[in-house]
Amino acid sequence: MFYKNINLKKRGEMIAFLTKHYRYHTLNSWNRSTSYANNIKLYNIEKPADIDNDTWWQLLELTEWQEELSDLLADFGRSYNWQWQAGINGRSGGYVVLYKGGIQTSGYKSYCTHCGQLNYQAVPDNQTGICGRCDARARVNFQKTHMQIFTWPGKDIDMDEDFRDWSTDDIRDRVKLIQKFDRLCDSIVREYISTCRSYRITEEEILVPKTIKVLEPVGR
Ligand SMILES: [Zn+2]
Repeated sequence: MFYKNINLKKRGEMIAFLTKHYRYHTLNSWNRSTSYANNIKLYNIEKPADIDNDTWWQLLELTEWQEELSDLLADFGRSYNWQWQAGINGRSGGYVVLYKGGIQTSGYKSYCTHCGQLNYQAVPDNQTGICGRCDARARVNFQKTHMQIFTWPGKDIDMDEDFRDWSTDDIRDRVKLIQKFDRLCDSIVREYISTCRSYRITEEEILVPKTIKVLEPVGR
């Protein structure tokens, strides 16, 4: 659906593919930065006849789908060591957009095994630190340098680029990246359809959670 076969030996064909590719805002419309994108709004996608309307429109908001979607996006980012990332933008989340990003050391040295709070201070050797948030004596050092992924959400990608100045190899690499991005968008649509087929949306009554106080042993 989104993926297009491009002759990677033809400069003109590759440049035309890049310059004519669908684009969307990286942040919002007044920021004016755009990047390669695809519109995955449901009304643009043909609903297979065997999927009922309710499932088709409601699955979008369910956690099961949101998690599958984040997995697909994360796989794409990881395959580029986060230098390129795919994200969702638009008021109703209807666009997949290509972003630039990376991975860097976070500076966090320890974390709480009880509540997950991160801490910039290292715990001295053979000791367990106290968590600044939940007070549990459960703060331990990271075994490896803790890294964090960052994204440049406002950065445009190839917005005013003149590809005639680029070497053919560089153009080809960019085309391959965008093709892989288009393939990702295809697999998002495929995955949505298959998830629709594997779930039936039912309503469940849930108990309203109530906060109670409990005593918890302190680890020493
Ligand atoms: Zn904690």
